Amino acid sequence: MFLKRKTALITGSTSGIGLGYARALAAQGAHLMINGFGDTDVIDGYVAELAESSGGRAIYSAADMTKPEAIRAMMAECAEKLGGPDILINNVGIQHVAPVDEFPEDKWDAIMAIILTSAFHTTKAALPAMKAKGWGRIINTGSMHSLVASPFKSAYNAAKHGLAGFTKTVALEVATQGITVNNICPGYVWTSLVENQIPDTMKARGLTRDQVINDVLLANQPQKKFVQVEQLAALAVFLCREEASAITGTNLSVDGGWTAQ
Ligand code: NAD
Repeated sequence: MFLKRKTALITGSTSGIGLGYARALAAQGAHLMINGFGDTDVIDGYVAELAESSGGRAIYSAADMTKPEAIRAMMAECAEKLGGPDILINNVGIQHVAPVDEFPEDKWDAIMAIILTSAFHTTKAALPAMKAKGWGRIINTGSMHSLVASPFKSAYNAAKHGLAGFTKTVALEVATQGITVNNICPGYVWTSLVENQIPDTMKARGLTRDQVINDVLLANQPQKKFVQVEQLAALAVFLCREEASAITGTNLSVDGGWTAQ
């Protein structure tokens, strides 16, 4: 339990990859603040599970990552109740699939706000305490779409490429202060985010569900299987270790070979 007495805040952690990070960090003893939307009873269950597994504290923030005021309030609540986060994981993300000339403007704005701008606000708020402690870990969930593009995902590709650039800049700014900043870049992981984009992709490309899974989602994933949430969580845990302290400013691909092509 090498993270005892450390606090981790993970945006978008009431399901999927974020919840996987939360479980893995709790298993190492970290206090947790989780965030996201969902059924209150289910989220209460996650909070109880995380506190039990860490032997520490776990709290939940319903802050909407499109709202800077709400993000600042979440960061302040974390600092007040658990201490400023030692580990910040900017994980929240949504997707919308449409040709760029038909792309809804509100979807563009939401994707940029949720994926890119929220990471700016959380990072800005978290850094002063990390600098004061001389230790910190910022882990962003990018995507293979931080590195390469796919059609019909203009906002997502732009935001995730932006997150890669933001990662590098912050890493350079804090390089001598015991803080590392990295961007984990998964290939397709089987979560609700992937499942929910299947209907739109069926529509945009005129395909069946099976065709979308096999011919679109896994077409460029050479291993022909989805990445597992636990594989990403294990990498996040490793990035928190002392042995990983020289890893900073990187895009770390966990994509079944997607970006080797
Ligand atoms: P998910 O849909 O399972 O989880 C998204 C989380 O974000 C949920 O907790 C949801 O409640 C929360 N959320 C959504 N909008 C929010 C908002 N406005 N404010 C606060 N919380 C909000 O998705 P996931 O697949 O676990 O995705 C997590 C991250 O991983 C995203 O950044 C995604 O882009 C990235 N990613 C996913 C895949 C994949 O194949 N699933 C691949 C590469 C990258």
